[in-house]
Amino acid sequence: MIRVKYAFASILFLFASVTFAQEAVTKEKEPGHTNQSKFKQLYEEFATPNTYRSASGAPGPDYYQQQADYVMDIRLDDKDAKIYGTETITYTNNSPDDLEYLWVQLDQNVRTKDSKALLKNGSGVSLGDSPEKFVGTYMTESFDGGFNIDYVKDDSGKALPFTVNFTMMRVDLPTPLKSGDKFSFDIKWNYNIPDHTVNRARSGYEFFEEDGNRAYVIAQFFPRMAVYNDVEGWQNHQFWGNGEFALPFGNYEVNITVPADHILDGTGLLQNRKEVFTKEMMSRYEQAKKSYDKPVIIVTQAEAEAAEKGFSDKTKTWKLKAENVRDFGFATSRKFIWDMQAVKLGSRDIMAVSMYPKEGNPLWEEYSTKAVAHTLRSYSAHTFDYPYPKAISVHAKNQGMEYPMICWNYGRPNKDGTYSDRTKYGMISVIIHEVGHNFFPMIVNSDERQWGWMDEGLDTFMQYMAEQEFGEAFPAAIAPNDKYPSRRGDPAKIVPYMSGDQSTISPIMSNPENVFQLGPNAYGKPATALNILRETVMGRELFDHAFKTYSHRWKFKHPTPEDFFRTMEDASAVDLDWYWRGWFYTTDYVDLAVKDIKKYYVSDQPNKKMQAYLAERGIPESNLRPMVYLEEFDDANMVAPELKDNLPSESSKTLKEFMMDNMTAAERAAIKEPKYFYEITYNSPGGLPMPLIVEYTYADGSVKNVTYPPEIWRKNSKEVSMVISSVTELTGVNIDPKMETADIDTTNNSWPKKEQESDFDKMKDGIKGE
Ligand SMILES: [Zn+2]
Repeated sequence: MIRVKYAFASILFLFASVTFAQEAVTKEKEPGHTNQSKFKQLYEEFATPNTYRSASGAPGPDYYQQQADYVMDIRLDDKDAKIYGTETITYTNNSPDDLEYLWVQLDQNVRTKDSKALLKNGSGVSLGDSPEKFVGTYMTESFDGGFNIDYVKDDSGKALPFTVNFTMMRVDLPTPLKSGDKFSFDIKWNYNIPDHTVNRARSGYEFFEEDGNRAYVIAQFFPRMAVYNDVEGWQNHQFWGNGEFALPFGNYEVNITVPADHILDGTGLLQNRKEVFTKEMMSRYEQAKKSYDKPVIIVTQAEAEAAEKGFSDKTKTWKLKAENVRDFGFATSRKFIWDMQAVKLGSRDIMAVSMYPKEGNPLWEEYSTKAVAHTLRSYSAHTFDYPYPKAISVHAKNQGMEYPMICWNYGRPNKDGTYSDRTKYGMISVIIHEVGHNFFPMIVNSDERQWGWMDEGLDTFMQYMAEQEFGEAFPAAIAPNDKYPSRRGDPAKIVPYMSGDQSTISPIMSNPENVFQLGPNAYGKPATALNILRETVMGRELFDHAFKTYSHRWKFKHPTPEDFFRTMEDASAVDLDWYWRGWFYTTDYVDLAVKDIKKYYVSDQPNKKMQAYLAERGIPESNLRPMVYLEEFDDANMVAPELKDNLPSESSKTLKEFMMDNMTAAERAAIKEPKYFYEITYNSPGGLPMPLIVEYTYADGSVKNVTYPPEIWRKNSKEVSMVISSVTELTGVNIDPKMETADIDTTNNSWPKKEQESDFDKMKDGIKGE
């Protein structure tokens, strides 16, 4: 007769083990199901590593990239809103291949009068259009905004044959460009500048009716070299409007001639400041270079308002020079107010700069340059020190668009100067996001045309961290105790998207032209996936080191998704194939649930499970060596009676003595015996493996948090059963109590089941969601 004595002490987990409900799976097996583990390595999805790109995710010994250097003379005609340019491109072929032709991008051809881009969508009547879009679509002739190419010549002045295919131009070379050689050629071009507020263009002008002036934000305005590399050959996928840009690095010398009363800034360092600045502007600029805590006004609102009233027929040429950039953009207007401050990064000073018409004030003079400076500090801390000499934020209506060292941002107060919190935070957020794009993809130069998430997702993730840090940097900007209202990044925010209609969701690993909802697909979901990876799967230390490693390995280079995926594993020793597979290659979602709880007691007699096992195989019970068994209570009622202590045995030992034969009595006495045993079955209807974060509560009021690793799902991605023991009765199980995993349905997360939300509450939540 065993007399088991149970200690009533604090909770103790003697052991927790996992058993997999294999039988249930076999029964539910779908036809063709191969028991494919979600944890299968991504060998089939990934390109084979080679000497260009290593298996570690680093550039390989033969990694190369092409270089395109530009010397350009640009002239803006402010009267007719036209732009003219001549450019000399010097292209260096660092690839091992000889090139018979070069591909040049003519992005403005997306706006030719007969552009196929206008006819690309076949999804019928939309839910509703903005008045501008409606007018643009149904009430106006399409705008004639394509490139006019005057000539393409080699450096001796001889015409080069070229063929334009929509937004791509093939320039045929007289003799193939040998590996290691350079080729220089000239292009003369012009085009009509669009009103970007009507055409949803990333570049163009806004016209201000009250004073008759335009503010220009000009980009992808010149024929630009396409990327040639080891992955795509020529990356000459057409520009349809959504898939952004793929560009090689190079050096730029750009002279831009504009009306003499314009203020201009752009990519690169100004070479002739004394020619284009007034004396006052020069002395204010000298002050700004030493102002580390707040911006100094270079052109005041009063000066800008005075300039608005004129229209100079004279011109000025602004000369800019930039090294190792992948693109060039500029902004110009007589309406611009201009401010700057210095930001110290390591031993270097960077200029944080803002340009805005008076319509942006008072919001812009208060927050723009501060947000630029904060972004440079925050992003540098998480990646590498910002390597360029300046970063400019330009205010342009409804714009959020990035170029090296310069970006366009929205956020306009009401006419009377008042603004809502929504406008303020929207403006700070877009500035963080667009200035942040300097890191991804301007410096870590991924292929935006093919992979929108590599720049948008990584940048939105970084943006989330910078926003959460904004309040610490500028406590006055945020009400006390308020959290910065980030639009994307928090796991719960992606739930409405991931739980949506599967027929309108594409995997993150899709081309931006082919997805239904580009915002959540390329921005929100990857940003959330990285945030969860950092906070819940890897932990900050491992994640931050790996993310920095990726940033350093690929700065001023061209990474692919595999280079990112591989580096994150290589630098952390965390197997993440399951995570990339689930979050990036599928549209599975997270839904973890408590399915069932069973209660057990301890016995030294074979339990029913063992008896069935023996009977099936014809093995007599007497063949068993002594064992300890957990036997299920017959009573399904989980508010169980006292544990049965009439455990039958021929032995006279206590259970403890029976189990711990090789210990001394003192050692045995120190070990606490559990009284309650539970088998808890969790299931995963969403199919996306995740760490199983569980909060157990007990009758004595104590709480125990356990995070089971995602590997619990490796043999069965649908269902697992965990066994726990305790000295006091279990009263509650709650999965993911802090909502860290983007679980789409939390009504099945608890035992006992929590009261369900009413249909009305659900409906309200649905409307609130993004
Ligand atoms: Zn972006």
